[in-house]
Amino acid sequence: MNITWTLIQKQRLQELNASEVQQEMCFESHLNRNRAFQEQERLLVNQGKLRLQELREIKKRPSLCVLEQKLVEALTQKGFVQVVTPTIISKVALAKMSVSDDHPLFTQVFWLDPKRCLRPMLAPNLYTLWKDLLRLWKKPIRIFEIGTCYRKESKGALHLNEFTMLNLTELGLPKDQRQQRLEELAALVMDTVGITDYQLELTTSVVYGDTLDVVKGIELGSSAMGPHFLDDQWGITDPWVGIGFGLERLLMIKEEAQNVQSMGRSLTYLDGVRLNI
Ligand code: ATP
Ligand code: MG
Repeated sequence: MNITWTLIQKQRLQELNASEVQQEMCFESHLNRNRAFQEQERLLVNQGKLRLQELREIKKRPSLCVLEQKLVEALTQKGFVQVVTPTIISKVALAKMSVSDDHPLFTQVFWLDPKRCLRPMLAPNLYTLWKDLLRLWKKPIRIFEIGTCYRKESKGALHLNEFTMLNLTELGLPKDQRQQRLEELAALVMDTVGITDYQLELTTSVVYGDTLDVVKGIELGSSAMGPHFLDDQWGITDPWVGIGFGLERLLMIKEEAQNVQSMGRSLTYLDGVRLNI
């Protein structure tokens, strides 16, 4: 009763998005196992084909795009303004986030030339906009961006080299309301995605210091609040809250996918379905 899948079988089942239960099945003989493998593979391939058919005939857009649209609608309805900023940022902007040569994140940055890189985060651009908007708009200033960020990551089920970040910020709110506001913003995003039973956990980030993370088994989002030690660099003195989510990770949990790759920009997967079926 303790014969399990071979490594190759398990790998194939994972890429076909087999459930935990399917992946942990045990058998009494090799013959039984190999028959079961064929059966499970057939079932999963059929499920994949059905999902692709549904994408083609009904859904027409991958979950990543649908989620982005739902978030834009929910956030703009709550008074947040969407912004779109460049994916190419300067070394100077990154250094203002304290990410310079000796910083852990520095080695994860994709450099285009000595002075410019692909953004690993949205915050430098949002800080820049805050400074101008403080002159132009009344507080509180509520802006968000949804856009691609780039980080060199050693491969794993939770990390992509290019992923979609939502960064939601509110600048100029009463200092004593920051914690409650962060909880409300986390709830707004999680409700929109349709994930319940998440936790808020205090952790330490290499960029932001102490952060309150949104967690459901894995880290889904990280938040920070100001006044903050980075604010001086940007000329910001008002209290603020900000929270950043990875959309592919949100989808991975929502759709019970086995890895974040299947939810992201890919040539191997289409809307969560492995294409070699
Ligand atoms: P981790 O510790 O898991 O590598 P992080 O703390 O470095 O993540 P943050 O800088 O806090 O990530 O980014 C905010 C959110 O963006 C994360 O909570 C996660 O959902 C998402 N995210 C970060 N890096 C990646 C990545 N390489 N691939 C996919 N999503 C990511
Ligand atoms: Mg984090």
